[in-house]
Amino acid sequence: MAPMRLLVVEDEPKMARMLQRGLAEEGHQVDVCGTAEAALSQALEVPYDVVVLDWGLPDGDGVSLLRTWRARGLQVPVLLLTARGTTGEKVTGLRAGADDYLVKPFAFEELLARVEALDRRSAPGEVSGQALGDVQLDVRRRALRRGEREVTLTGREFALLMELRALGGDTATRSRLLLKVWGGDFEGTGNVVDVYVGYLRAKLERVGATAVEIEAVRGVGYRLLVRA
Ligand code: CA
Repeated sequence: MAPMRLLVVEDEPKMARMLQRGLAEEGHQVDVCGTAEAALSQALEVPYDVVVLDWGLPDGDGVSLLRTWRARGLQVPVLLLTARGTTGEKVTGLRAGADDYLVKPFAFEELLARVEALDRRSAPGEVSGQALGDVQLDVRRRALRRGEREVTLTGREFALLMELRALGGDTATRSRLLLKVWGGDFEGTGNVVDVYVGYLRAKLERVGATAVEIEAVRGVGYRLLVRA
C-alpha cells in the first residue's frame, strides 16, 4: 500500500489520537482537525487521498461540512464516522456525498481496510478524465495531465478552475469567484483571486498546456479560454 495523505476530522481527543497513531503506524501522513471550521479550509487547501470525517463536531455537523465541500467541487473520498447507525442516517450521509460509512464503535482494522479501499477506488486509471483543451482534467483526483506530465490542484485551485470552466468562456467577476470559491469563509479583497489565478496559470504551464488559458479581463475578472 503506497503511503496516503489523510485528513482526520474528529473532536474527541482519544479517538483522534488513536486514528492518527494507527494510520501513521501504517506509514500514512495524517493531519487532524478538531472543528468543522478548521477542516473546511484544510481539506480545500491540501490534496488529501482520503478524509475520515466524524459526524458530530463541536461547531457543526460533519454532514453539513461534507455538503459544503462537495458544493465547492471537492471530490476527495470521504469515510463518515458516526455513533448513529440508523438507515435514515446512513442515507443522509451518503446523499450528502460520503463514499462510505462506519458506525462507532469500530475496530481500527476495519477503518483501515475501508480507507484503503476508498483510495484504491479513486486511484488513477478510472474514467474520470475530461478534456480541457489539450490537457486532461482528472476530476476525481483534482489533477491536470498532458502526456507524461501531471500536477495536482489544491481544492481552491480546482474549485476556481471548475467555476471558470462552468462559464464557458464568459467573464467571471472577482466578486463572483470570491463568493463561489471562498464562500463565506473569506473576508477581504479580490486579490486572493489574482493570487490563485497565478497558481493555476503556473500549473497549466507546468503540464505544458498550450490550448487552455486564463485571460484577465481588465477591471472585471477572468475568463477561461479553451481552444479545440
Ligand atoms: Ca465527535
